[in-house]
Amino acid sequence: TDAEAAASGRRKLDVLRQTFGFDSFRSGQEEIVDSVLAGQNTLAIMPTGAGKSLCYQLPALVLGGLTIVVSPLIALMEDQVAALTVAGLAAGAIHSGKSRDENVAVWRRVAAGEIRLIYMSPERLLSDRMIAALQRLPVRLIAVDEAHCVSQWGHSFRSDYLGLSILRERFPGIGILALTATADTTTREEIRNKLFGAEARVFVSGFDRPNIQLTVVEKDDTSRQIERFIDERPGVSGIVYRLSRKKVEQTAERLAAKGVRALPYHAGMSQEDRARNQETFLAEAGVVMVATIAFGMGIDKSDVRYVLHGDLPSSLEAYYQEIGRAGRDGAAAEAHLLYGLEDVQLRRRFIDEQETDEARKAVEARRLDALLGFCEASTCRRSVLLRYFGEEQEPCGNCDVCLDPPQLVDGTEPARLALAAVSETGERFGAAHVVSVLIGRQTDKIRERGHDTLTVYGAGAARPANEWRSILRQMVTGGLLHLDHGAFGSVTMTREGRLLAEGQGRFDMRPVRKPAKKPRGEAA
Ligand code: ADP
Ligand code: ZN
Repeated sequence: TDAEAAASGRRKLDVLRQTFGFDSFRSGQEEIVDSVLAGQNTLAIMPTGAGKSLCYQLPALVLGGLTIVVSPLIALMEDQVAALTVAGLAAGAIHSGKSRDENVAVWRRVAAGEIRLIYMSPERLLSDRMIAALQRLPVRLIAVDEAHCVSQWGHSFRSDYLGLSILRERFPGIGILALTATADTTTREEIRNKLFGAEARVFVSGFDRPNIQLTVVEKDDTSRQIERFIDERPGVSGIVYRLSRKKVEQTAERLAAKGVRALPYHAGMSQEDRARNQETFLAEAGVVMVATIAFGMGIDKSDVRYVLHGDLPSSLEAYYQEIGRAGRDGAAAEAHLLYGLEDVQLRRRFIDEQETDEARKAVEARRLDALLGFCEASTCRRSVLLRYFGEEQEPCGNCDVCLDPPQLVDGTEPARLALAAVSETGERFGAAHVVSVLIGRQTDKIRERGHDTLTVYGAGAARPANEWRSILRQMVTGGLLHLDHGAFGSVTMTREGRLLAEGQGRFDMRPVRKPAKKPRGEAA
């Protein structure tokens, strides 16, 4: 009834203020709590630190009875139980990190109805005896933390999480709340299928980090671009991500040689060296950490002013995680990403050479496409990023596209020329070769294949190579060309590309912003 709803609403706020000591809900929390209190199956997607725990801890108190919390991480369970106990809340944990006697003692309190929240690892929960014992208790809510662990495509798949799909049958009518910070749609579908079996309400919130300015710039000379960026931001703490150990070392050395306090960090270094560099970064101001993705997990430094990606991250999720290390103090910070077609091909090759099935490769290829769509965005980048996570947002005013909107130009004519070059070379070559043909380079490959006799040979000489590379890249993201996922990264024409080549339609593109000062070799 309305009266009951009003009473439950008041109770909710009382608990929030008095028990948890918070003035108000954070963005997204109240909607999730309401859905859970209404007994609905709910999927809550929020980034780390946004306040997921409250979404089951508060309902656990309002609902009374017993709330089961499934968590894969023993340390995390113990932290939460300790924090809840300090706040005067009856909570306990049962897992393999404890002695049998300790677990039995906790279980007695559960069975006696003294505990509101019981944390359990999936393998403890899923034994027949445990399920049967819990079925006799007044279970009101089941919360599954780190729910993405059910995803077989994900990086943190845990086979014991798959067993959780029996919960909805063993506890019919009891609401299940799944929580995760991973938001790609494939994972979301898997969580829905495995944990709920049917529809669930999905809430996505808290992903926006408005103080981080987002910028994506095309690569022309990566080292120089990195050096210039850091030069212009002296004396502040920052992180530079590079793809390989070798690049990490080279970049750190070059920066150090220019007087920057730059330290390397990658998994190939000794434990001590890594720990020392990390310590220095955390303790001192103005240190630039040049690192592979090995760096960052659990790093809590609030005044990192920028995260610079010298190479393409592995996915939009990874990008989001990595840039999230900037500006934790809420002050202005920057995320600066350099990208080039070579990176894209390298990524495609990584995906292709994985020893895994085609379905998984296709998922990864889609993730990469989402990332490229972000890089080539001609609308607000933050909107593109948040939409990927399922959050809608107006243009942000704090990304390069909002601040300096790209003027799209008519690229139909160069696109047709590029399509002709792709077609005349038989749709069997990579973008680098196509560019060489267009600008009329003399390479061995061109001579061997006789490509210097084609009508398109040199037909694009009026534009520099980097401009052609950008045009080809935009044609790929624009759907005119298909970049083959195979090892050679050959470009082929899509249906739309063929139509354009035949004289139908037009192609708008971003103009190439700055020509390379010093063109590099063409080897991709
Ligand atoms: P997550 O599980 O999403 O990583 P946590 O649940 O650990 O995040 O919450 C992160 C921090 O935010 C905790 O310190 C928690 O106390 C705090 N917090 C959660 N909800 C609120 C709120 N409504 N108001 C203020 N602080 C909150
Ligand atoms: Zn924007």
